[in-house]
Amino acid sequence: MFNKETIGKFHSTPTPFYYYDMGLLRETLEACSAEAGKYGYFLHYALKANSNPQILKLISKSGFGADCVSGNEIRAAISHGFSPGHIMFSGVGKSDDEIRLALHSKIQSLNVESRQEMEVISDLAGEMGVTADISLRIIPNVDAHTHRYITTGLEENKFGILPWEFEKVLDKLKSRQNLRLKGLHFHIGSQITDLNVFKSLCHRVNEINAWFISNQVFPEIINVGGGLGIDYGDPDTFRIPDFSSYFRIFSNFIELQGNQSLHFEPGRALVGQCGSLITKVLFVKKGISTRFAIVDAGMNDLIRPALYQSYHKIENLTSAEQPEKYDVVGPICESSDCFGKAISLPKTSRMDLLVIRSVGAYGQTMSSQYNLRDLAKAVYSD
Ligand SMILES: *Cc1c(COP(=O)(O)O)cnc(C)c1O
Repeated sequence: MFNKETIGKFHSTPTPFYYYDMGLLRETLEACSAEAGKYGYFLHYALKANSNPQILKLISKSGFGADCVSGNEIRAAISHGFSPGHIMFSGVGKSDDEIRLALHSKIQSLNVESRQEMEVISDLAGEMGVTADISLRIIPNVDAHTHRYITTGLEENKFGILPWEFEKVLDKLKSRQNLRLKGLHFHIGSQITDLNVFKSLCHRVNEINAWFISNQVFPEIINVGGGLGIDYGDPDTFRIPDFSSYFRIFSNFIELQGNQSLHFEPGRALVGQCGSLITKVLFVKKGISTRFAIVDAGMNDLIRPALYQSYHKIENLTSAEQPEKYDVVGPICESSDCFGKAISLPKTSRMDLLVIRSVGAYGQTMSSQYNLRDLAKAVYSD
């Protein structure tokens, strides 16, 4: 995937660093827009996947709206070109200041996750003399069949409002003049690879949408969230997610009423494959039955393997010798600081460059300075 010239540049760049293939990101954005455009669907990029300025600028320029989960993400979205009128604000724990910022910025919708949040937003909007445009984040009880830490659409989950609360939600909407219901919002989890899950989601959305309409509430916006997965196992063959099949599922199964619009919040599917973590081998150490390749990137740079047991393809960019098995581990004082066990790599030596693939989403944004380490920098292909 990397040519000689690029690898040459890698050798003269301090490691570890994130490398972003902006050409691939551009192609991915174009593919997603083209497929969604066939049906007139609206796209809002989920900033939490990757909020690097260059990436935000390219995505906003490509015509996407934004999905934010903090006040600072709203600020970042606006300052990197996203129009406030296309920004959604989700999250179970919005602070009063964040709610005021969202109201002040006149964003498209605050996606509320509890009845108490409706009251607080209504009070704050009242104090500011404005009406808050809200959507109800609903738990549809659809199993995303993904890792339990990234499942959000099941009952007994901190996210969203449950169907048995709907009557009370309607009462609250009627009694609170500073709230205007704009839409219904659903987001059931991340790294969803079984498209049948989205078909089940459509059926639940149709039922819930019909319930609200039969109760004289008309949501203009139906927002089905993000969650489309990427292929971590084979990032070269499946460089761009199958947006065509994804949007076709919704087109086939969602029943929009009147002038309702359908909105999506992709994060990982847009940026996941364009990012790589480049790291140098510091030591190769023989254990009893294992060989360790100790690299200069750690779980503070990329926490996904430690947090979700996620798989990332690892390659050696320097060696072309006979393959051997290695546990690729970082320098952090935690046993979970491991990027892969028994990985087959060409015979690996000190100073070889390794690449950890498919880290464009939830890689750099989740990094920390644990052990007082420096944050890995970003390098862009253009
Ligand atoms: C995280 C998140 C997304 C994006 O999820 P992906 O799996 O990265 O597509 C979308 N909407 C909401 C509300 C989220 O919290």
